[in-house]
Amino acid sequence: MNYKEALHHPIFKIISQSAKELQLDSYVIGGFVRDFILKRGTAKDIDVVAIGDGIKLAKQVAKNLPNKPKVQVFKTYGTAMLRYDDIEVEFVGARKESYTEDSRNPAVENGTLADDQNRRDFTINALALNLSTENFGDLLDPFNGAQDLDDKIIRTPLNPDITYSDDPLRMLRAIRFATQLNFTIETKSLKAITKNSDRIKIITNERIVTEINKILESKVPSIGFLLLEQTGLLKHILPELTALKGIDEIEGQRHKDNFYHTLEVVDNIAENTDNVWLRWAALLHDIGKAPTKRFSKKVGWTFHAHEFEGSKMVYHLFKRLKMPLNDKMKFVQKMVFMSSRPIVLAQDIVTDSAVRRLVFDAGEYVEDLMTLCEADITTKNPKKFNKYHNNFKIVREKIIEVEARDHVRNFQPPISGEEIIAAFNLKPSREIGIIKEAIKEAILEGVIPNEYEAAHAFMLEKGRKLGLTVGG
Ligand code: ATP
Ligand code: MG
Repeated sequence: MNYKEALHHPIFKIISQSAKELQLDSYVIGGFVRDFILKRGTAKDIDVVAIGDGIKLAKQVAKNLPNKPKVQVFKTYGTAMLRYDDIEVEFVGARKESYTEDSRNPAVENGTLADDQNRRDFTINALALNLSTENFGDLLDPFNGAQDLDDKIIRTPLNPDITYSDDPLRMLRAIRFATQLNFTIETKSLKAITKNSDRIKIITNERIVTEINKILESKVPSIGFLLLEQTGLLKHILPELTALKGIDEIEGQRHKDNFYHTLEVVDNIAENTDNVWLRWAALLHDIGKAPTKRFSKKVGWTFHAHEFEGSKMVYHLFKRLKMPLNDKMKFVQKMVFMSSRPIVLAQDIVTDSAVRRLVFDAGEYVEDLMTLCEADITTKNPKKFNKYHNNFKIVREKIIEVEARDHVRNFQPPISGEEIIAAFNLKPSREIGIIKEAIKEAILEGVIPNEYEAAHAFMLEKGRKLGLTVGG
């Protein structure tokens, strides 16, 4: 492979020249080199390691760039960053690291390129390209990372037990890369992750969530969640999911394994949406089933009100993981809460009023809800599979039809409270609410269309029945 091709962007020559002026060597290292070899498209973030002062090199590069960009210095980390075009370059001095038991922040001293490659998490992330003017574009690959890329293997440069114990975040990174790239984690590494899984507790929730999101955003997210479960990490991170594992049997009655079912749903939805929050909803849609599981002789296994329970659990889960408790969280809650609605619809004959209620309750998220519920069809019975999918097609058509006619998606009452007060000359009273609710119900049931005239007539009629007189 001609690695010079990876360095065709003019910025690399400028870095090379700047390093020469400072009489130090520099290399491109890590993800950029990996992704070039994998032909994942040219990465927009570039990591440069200097054998010497990385911050000084960054400043020299900035001086030599035509646009003289600002250099952002992170003193605590000894790194500096600048932007050029749409590229972000991060500079760091080569370093040697040593770790203590209770922190993932190592003691750092200056080192050689080899020292710096040793501290990298995986062989595939330790690849470096020389930027010196003499050996421009030479690959430095002390751990056979290029071969591992070819073999699709994730392996640590040093003893994996020490690598993962030093910085337990690497366990999640290993699983995340395995999922993103569809690579295999070397057995020795997998064992070391399993052994060190408890140490994940020293990692901040923010970093954990970043990795979980990257797993969820992958093409086949189940790869990652199966590995997380297998290694014992999942029970520390998302115990709500491990609680779904297993099948109970009483008197010959069994329920499905809701953990593996959930993973199927996540893989299904990944084929139909890139919305990571909708993928989160798929991941969490059944978490209420663990605490609500009951058995009765009459009906067998039930998970009564698991959607409501699940939507409450979403809040606690987001809070625990320090995820923002914003409208995204509310969206996930809503999806979980409504996750059984369309399937109930699709099992039966689809009536207009049921569809109207669905659109009314789901509002602007009705399509997302449909996408979730279609992904939820994991039955292995082809007859049922086809029936449900067909019914969902009908539901989707009806949604469009009903919405075009009745506009209940962003429902605004056609008659306001003020108008009801004026019509019957009322003081603030219960009747106002009763009439308002009755109008809404009549529209959703299809008794009257969602139009002013019809609603007005209905209001007068309803008022009369309540013993009110027009004009008071
Ligand atoms: P991506 O940008 O797709 O997440 P990446 O490999 O570039 O992948 P970064 O987090 O940008 O990941 O890190 C850049 C490089 O820094 C990695 O390629 C790796 O060499 C090194 N690195 C990052 N995190 C760690 C870590 N926790 N332990 C050791 N090396 C790490
Ligand atoms: Mg990167």
